[in-house]
Amino acid sequence: MISRSGWQAKAPRWTTRHRTPVNTVYIHHGGTHLSGHTQKDEASALQAYQRYHLRKGWADIAYSFAVGPQSGRVYELRGWNARPGATKGHNADSYSIVIIGNTSTQRVSEECVDSVRRLIEIGQRAGKITQKVQVLGHRDVKSTACPGDSAYSRLKDMAPGATPKTTVSKAPTYRRMLRLRRPRMRGNVVKWVQSIVGANPDGVYGPKTKALVQKWQRSKGLVADGIVGPKTYRFLSR
Ligand SMILES: [Zn+2]
Repeated sequence: MISRSGWQAKAPRWTTRHRTPVNTVYIHHGGTHLSGHTQKDEASALQAYQRYHLRKGWADIAYSFAVGPQSGRVYELRGWNARPGATKGHNADSYSIVIIGNTSTQRVSEECVDSVRRLIEIGQRAGKITQKVQVLGHRDVKSTACPGDSAYSRLKDMAPGATPKTTVSKAPTYRRMLRLRRPRMRGNVVKWVQSIVGANPDGVYGPKTKALVQKWQRSKGLVADGIVGPKTYRFLSR
């Protein structure tokens, strides 16, 4: 974990002692475009978030921890012992983890998902988070796009006990249309589509995958036919 001095944090104005264990972890995203993924790029994004929050008169950057959307690097912000301030009305019994950048326009990597889950598991082992923790998105308690679609679709995989997924993270070349048929279509391209629409990435194009493709198409304003043709493919590759 990268400490506060590792991202050149300013000192907090004050801290409020956090009462633990808490039973909820809220996932946020920064909502700003992250142009690079080096530690320096991530640290300067965090500095900007902190400046913004301090300008609002807050005690400190609002979140407990941050995770790099591609790198999976973990940063200490308010940490385990100070109450977070990112989820109004829910701060006293939760931690807030922010995924740096905009996870609606940039997809979270498996490394990122794994880091969030491992961080929560560390919190459990340290007695800071209950065993029956709920992992929620900011949008579950407020009308906001936060934490962005790609992070929001992975909340289940961020919860302790989830099996790490080995997915295809780069867009494979488009070769054929994917749809529900018998025998089922299979392979890495299916797995890749599943990892984006939030389906279990087992590499088999079944009815659940079709339904999630339709939901995803609807959210993008595409024809919701559950068929991954050239147009849907182009949108998925973004
Ligand atoms: Zn948020």
